[in-house]
Amino acid sequence: MPRPTLTRRRLLRTALPLAAVPLLQGCGDDDIDMADDDGVPEGEWQNWAKSVRCNPRNGLQLPETVDELAGIVAKAKGPVRAVGAGHSFAAVVPTDDTLLSIEALTGIVRHDPKELTATIRAGTRLFLLGPQLAELGQGLPAQPDVDLQSLAGALSTCSHGAGAQHRCMPHTIQGLQLVTADGRVLDLSPTQQPQLFEAARVSLGTLGVLTEVTLRNRTKYLLKESTFVMPLDQALAQFATWQRQDRHSEFFAFPRGNTAYCKRMSEVSAETPLTIVAPALEEKELGQAAELAMRAPWTIAALQRIAGWFVPDTVRIGASYHIFPTVRQVPFNEMEYAVAAEHGPACFREVVAAICDQNLPVFFPLEYRHVGADDLWLSPYHGRESVTISVHQYHKQDHAALFRAVEPIFWKYDGRPHWGKWHSLTAARLANHYPHWGDFQRARKELDPAGKFLNPYLKSLFEV
Ligand SMILES: Cc1cc2nc3c(=O)[nH]c(=O)nc-3n(C[C@H](O)[C@H](O)[C@H](O)COP(=O)(O)OP(=O)(O)OC[C@H]3O[C@@H](n4cnc5c(N)ncnc54)[C@H](O)[C@@H]3O)c2cc1C
Repeated sequence: MPRPTLTRRRLLRTALPLAAVPLLQGCGDDDIDMADDDGVPEGEWQNWAKSVRCNPRNGLQLPETVDELAGIVAKAKGPVRAVGAGHSFAAVVPTDDTLLSIEALTGIVRHDPKELTATIRAGTRLFLLGPQLAELGQGLPAQPDVDLQSLAGALSTCSHGAGAQHRCMPHTIQGLQLVTADGRVLDLSPTQQPQLFEAARVSLGTLGVLTEVTLRNRTKYLLKESTFVMPLDQALAQFATWQRQDRHSEFFAFPRGNTAYCKRMSEVSAETPLTIVAPALEEKELGQAAELAMRAPWTIAALQRIAGWFVPDTVRIGASYHIFPTVRQVPFNEMEYAVAAEHGPACFREVVAAICDQNLPVFFPLEYRHVGADDLWLSPYHGRESVTISVHQYHKQDHAALFRAVEPIFWKYDGRPHWGKWHSLTAARLANHYPHWGDFQRARKELDPAGKFLNPYLKSLFEV
């Protein structure tokens, strides 16, 4: 991509944030807050974004077998919640009662090389799953843009990657095993209690604790990823073409700088030489820019323009599970809505206009992706190819104010929220978005009549 030349005007704009440098003085590496558990008292839990916490009565329960897990769930008197990697932004995990993790239940149980299916323990983290599947000649068709999540967590919130021809992760589920509120172990599939199976494919842990899932994968494959920066309006104009040409494509928009950081991925043959280069966006610099933007919001436009000039074009080729994920160490909070694909550009333009016109103090980019249509009961992509638009806020800044300002725009376009991310919809309004809402509620009440798996946040989502 051609780089803008440094005209006098641009140089002046570049110099602008330098005036804010004193604000960073005394801001050592420790101030650039990374995703970690620093400052969390013993026995407490917090999510990756440091925005949701809880203090479970008995600490974190870590059962090592399904029987042990079933015993914990059956005996629990109060609410029970399962946690994966804590990468959800919404309060879908916390409880001050029984919090449990199936971190010990990992690995591939069996696989079918003809059908390309694999039965996997649901505590397996995605970053461990990729290489294990590759050893069996399999690969996940698509993945989110980080891979620290547990398989159970990613499936339960309907996580997705990028690309119109790819559906959300739970779309590939062929069967699953669930520990229910009374400690029963249920095996569900399209032929074993199909209604409960349909409900359990996306359920935010409200039907029980997932212990195993069978996924239909594909043969393992290599991806070539190209990243580059271009003006935002051009990226938006070209995106529809990329969608047709690429296996996956997306862009991160910096509206004030009219800049887009774009990613395009295609499948390449096994003969292509492997190259892995350092990730383009260094997390330390991102953290510094976020700190500066927070302390001196008047630098945001200049910072966003400059960020575009200094990010190099990159090409990476490697195993799909190496190329999909990126490293995200600077915590942020996120709202993501899915709108019908045909409304994506208009909705996105309105969100950008709101950020610019209202001078909303946000340095972090917006993310723009396509997700294929599916038929899962609680999938935000149910029945329509979708564009997902994500709004991120640095974790030290007020995300609620930003999200309140843009959320009505998503509603205007009939948007459905990502289950793991911030939104303010509750049951009465959510029900209108999902044709199988009533079916899901029936399954939930059948498996958990007392609401053992609900915390206050989930009650607001599911109980009208
Ligand atoms: C940096 C970052 C990047 C992200 N990128 C993407 C992306 O590209 N695409 C996307 O769609 N999402 C993305 N997400 C969101 C993320 O994929 C989801 O929030 C996902 O649920 C996180 O998985 P987890 O293992 O951390 O689950 P948690 O957040 O720990 O839990 C999520 C839900 O799963 C339930 N759960 C966990 N384990 C079990 C179990 N064994 N049985 C039943 N229920 C269980 C929990 O109770 C909770 O309701 C991103 C998040 C972050 C922080």
